[in-house]
Amino acid sequence: MEMQMELQPQPHVLLLPFPAQGHIKPMLALAQLLCHSGIHVTFLNTEHNHRQLTQRQALSGRFPTLHFHSISDGLPSDHPRSVYSNYMDIITSLRSKMAPLLHQLLVSLMSKNDVDDPVAQLPPLGCVITDGIMSFAIDVAEELRIPVIALRFISAASFLCNLCIPKLIEEAQLPFGVLSHIGSLFSKVYTIGPLHALLKSHIVDNNLSSSSAAAASLRQEDRRCMMWLDSQSVGSVIFVSFGSLLKLTRVQLLEFWHSLVNSGFPFLWVIWSDVLWSDEAEHLSYVIPGELETATKERGFIVDWAPQEEVLAHEAMGGFLTHSGWNSTLEAMWAGVPMRCWPQIGDQQVNSRWVGEVWKIGIDMKDTCDRSTIEKMIKALMKGEERDVISRSVDRFAKLARTSVSESGSSYHNLEKLIEDLRNL
Ligand code: UDP
Repeated sequence: MEMQMELQPQPHVLLLPFPAQGHIKPMLALAQLLCHSGIHVTFLNTEHNHRQLTQRQALSGRFPTLHFHSISDGLPSDHPRSVYSNYMDIITSLRSKMAPLLHQLLVSLMSKNDVDDPVAQLPPLGCVITDGIMSFAIDVAEELRIPVIALRFISAASFLCNLCIPKLIEEAQLPFGVLSHIGSLFSKVYTIGPLHALLKSHIVDNNLSSSSAAAASLRQEDRRCMMWLDSQSVGSVIFVSFGSLLKLTRVQLLEFWHSLVNSGFPFLWVIWSDVLWSDEAEHLSYVIPGELETATKERGFIVDWAPQEEVLAHEAMGGFLTHSGWNSTLEAMWAGVPMRCWPQIGDQQVNSRWVGEVWKIGIDMKDTCDRSTIEKMIKALMKGEERDVISRSVDRFAKLARTSVSESGSSYHNLEKLIEDLRNL
């Protein structure tokens, strides 16, 4: 066997993992297995991860045919490189900046022109095994006519789901056409939202919106907050309301409270008397720290129930910390108020995802509930670059919502159609 290894030149393969722990580890296991059978492996990392892989030398000592190499991922050195929150940054940079460097490297390894010792000892590169996510690497290898194998580090079931995506796109099932897809499942669909806005546009009466919202409330509105809002500057207030169902734990209540106070912005908060889970409620009055009470008196206002539509439409409104209930989402959209979403149950997660990722009219804070993170999130909602982008987007949606309920709009038209169909039944 050893004689054979000496006589037959061993192949040389380049392995390229996606730059994340869960991809590097199995790819490196494969590298060792290949090296164990005598194959030469060039293991290519981003420079950033190359530096973090401190045991390289020990591995190369153990597997003499294992060679580490690195190229830049194209991101600035201080970039967080968090796959969780910066995935698109990373993949875009790899595609645009790493791909040409990979091309250069493959050319040099194929022609053995890479004079760096010990790479010069290597046979010419015969194959690339790339992480399947790095589709640009497949393109580069194919362009150079070098055999390429795509390796996936996900379950067969997930991989199969991925493979179904092109077919779903071909059949126009993805991206969700929201409504056109629903339309194909039912004989008739009437899209008539947002209903509170349609009501305003159909029946022109300045008092109608406040009276109809109050009439629909199961709780008594505390209108004193409108006077408080009048005394605040334009766009300065954060409104916090988690709808009519969501209960909080004492810890959650206090984390939100601290973050609101620490953010420094004036805030209007709906805390109904029974907002706490019943087994925690009786302790509340004993655990509100004095500094929270003082700061709330200075720049906060707490109500049991607010005239939410009016609050959102007030010129002092700057941002909405919401649980992403669908009514609240539509009301904020209509009023053009950027949202911070803290979805918990039912359809709230999906609403929040669309608000954050698809419509870009808010930011999904998922189930984060610690005071310093919330404080940072509130600040980003109220001020800064991200806020500016969201504000532009939410303005556009407010206009679209207005168009939809105007005489030429789809909601207006669909309501007429519904009424006509009801008459013809
Ligand atoms: N709402 C209100 N005043 C409040 C809090 C909520 O009028 O202080 C209204 C809000 O305008 C919305 C509804 O209650 O129309 C809540 O519905 P949503 O779908 O947002 O959440 P849910 O209560 O169903 O979780």
